[in-house]
Amino acid sequence: MAASHALKPILELLPEELPGEGYRRAQIAHWLYAKGARDFSEMTDLPKALREALAREWRLSEFSLVQAFPSQDGSVKYLFTLLDGKKTEAVYMPYENRKTVCLSTMVGCPAGCTFCATGALGFGRNLTAAEILDQLLTIAYHQGLSPREIRNVVLMGMGEPLLNLRNVLKAVRIMLHKKALALSPRRVTLSTVGIPKGIYRLAEEDLGVRLALSLHAPDDETRRKIIPTAHRYPIAEIMEAVRHYHAKTKRRVTFEYTLLKGVNDHLWQARLLAKLLKGLSAHVNLIPFNPWEGAPVAGTPKAGVLAFAEELKRLGVPTSIRWSRGQDVGAACGQLALKVPRPLTLTPLPEGAGR
Ligand code: SAH
Ligand code: SF4
Repeated sequence: MAASHALKPILELLPEELPGEGYRRAQIAHWLYAKGARDFSEMTDLPKALREALAREWRLSEFSLVQAFPSQDGSVKYLFTLLDGKKTEAVYMPYENRKTVCLSTMVGCPAGCTFCATGALGFGRNLTAAEILDQLLTIAYHQGLSPREIRNVVLMGMGEPLLNLRNVLKAVRIMLHKKALALSPRRVTLSTVGIPKGIYRLAEEDLGVRLALSLHAPDDETRRKIIPTAHRYPIAEIMEAVRHYHAKTKRRVTFEYTLLKGVNDHLWQARLLAKLLKGLSAHVNLIPFNPWEGAPVAGTPKAGVLAFAEELKRLGVPTSIRWSRGQDVGAACGQLALKVPRPLTLTPLPEGAGR
């Protein structure tokens, strides 16, 4: 059999593009996305000759190695080695009766935000649509779930999704497709550092997914200190794009705001933020900073986080605080940096996973 990297990735295909005739395609889609098959040989209601023909041409897994690191709070960080040896990560979060996965869209990230461990890695490469989807399928398999039991997807792992929009859109279309993962668009959230062109493009696609904007500062001067892309895209330009997205999709936009000590945590900034969001159906997600080794910034202490939240609430801005999860294994927001947590807690994968 050919080495898997010489085969074509079947996860790049929409259900109607899958190989085979009419109902065979539906069968294959069902095996991939409802049953979570990890090998063509599992597709027992297909004729053996077809299974063999599929295996000669297509590959079903994008990873050569999968490592899982369970956190004490129930989340699990996954480290994937891609077929070219590069690595990326995803996080499984089974909280509040909701099974969520946080997926990566790149190896590393070119945006270089100062507070983000992924940014400090620099840019590796874009992930393909198949590599994005396979993170979800592999996690489902490892967790003993049907892929369709994962009902929430956040594109908040490594990378900037709007700088890899072609592949991200392809993956999202397969996630939403009724014959694939059949996810509700309201349960897919794309988080961006704020690339206006990408936001307009996403609005045009009209997929109905939720948008989360990583704002982190209500004024350009502060924002430029922590987010290099803010030099290119002023807040006013990003907000115009976000308003357009909101008008077009009618979806409430989430604004993410990581509180950094002495940088963006002043109460005047909470007031300016409230002013900026006026008239927009918005929700602010305050993220206490998740520390990582070598970070040039520090987090706002808890009292400061609460005070910032109170000020926003007082001004009528719907606000929540996203206390971190998975910190002990480096799985929290902005901690994804391909580090193997110590002590190493490798969970054996079920047979067939990560092939
Ligand atoms: N590139 C996208 C998505 C990945 S980052 C984006 O920037 O939105 C996901 C979220 O984690 C973003 O809101 C990001 O700003 C935040 N984040 C990054 N590093 C963090 C850290 N160390 N602590 C808390 N949040 C962080
Ligand atoms: Fe990239 Fe997002 Fe990290 Fe910024 S916060 S470096 S955009 S992953």
